[in-house]
Amino acid sequence: MIYSYTQISQYLRCPRLYRYRYLDGWQEKDTRASMIFGRCFEKALAAYFQGEDCVSALFKEWNVYKDAPLDYGKTDSWDRMLHQGTQLLHLFVQENRVCVSRPLQDLQTKIIRSLPNANEFIAYVDAIGEIDGAPYLIDWKTTTSRYVDEPEGLWALDPQLICYSWMSGIHNVAMVVFVRKKLPEIQYLKTSIGDEQLKEYGHLVETTIQQIESGSFPSHSGIRFPMNGCTSCSHLGLCLNNQQLIESGLIRRPGAHELDWLDQLAD
Ligand code: SF4
Repeated sequence: MIYSYTQISQYLRCPRLYRYRYLDGWQEKDTRASMIFGRCFEKALAAYFQGEDCVSALFKEWNVYKDAPLDYGKTDSWDRMLHQGTQLLHLFVQENRVCVSRPLQDLQTKIIRSLPNANEFIAYVDAIGEIDGAPYLIDWKTTTSRYVDEPEGLWALDPQLICYSWMSGIHNVAMVVFVRKKLPEIQYLKTSIGDEQLKEYGHLVETTIQQIESGSFPSHSGIRFPMNGCTSCSHLGLCLNNQQLIESGLIRRPGAHELDWLDQLAD
């Protein structure tokens, strides 16, 4: 079996959700404008590091979806997102804090790690480069609101950054967050992951895979207040046996064993 960060984190969130998605083949319909825009924006960043016009690249990528029936957030529209993305690209170029000197090798880098029992773990790292002159493994994010950056050191607890550090052996990791708001902002959230954390994450992966392979998929319904994990779960329709919810949000791919979900970006 091949595992990924998204798989492990989805199992830890709710094993039933994992079963729906990876064993039964129920996938979310890819109509979220914010998610698709994020992918277009990453391609524009790649164009920038390859010495091309990143604003034109963003327009070209995003233009493909101009008339597509996407689900936009309350304050979002195709034009507004393009405008915000363009502003953020200009700001990124102007701030000039990130350098990826080998874009062909160090953007969307695939890393494979062997696990016991002939299993493998795979990750696609957004970028390996420098921030403010120091080497970092970098994950890009696009969002409509700032990421919380206090108390100091908080980002050393981020499981995705820990996972990428565990996969790559690079201790210095960072999220570069492009905040789509009235006054565009870029956050450079840098941290360092310690050896003990890497060991713990390896252990977490191992025990999670053991549970998956033992066929244990209980539901962790998360019904509690004020937060309720089920209300934001893409697979709620299946748990409620609500056909309308299923049809509006999911599509069943009989070939659940196919590996196209591996490079999906979990925001
Ligand atoms: S709706 Fe709740 S119980 Fe059902 S899969 Fe989603 S998180 Fe799990």
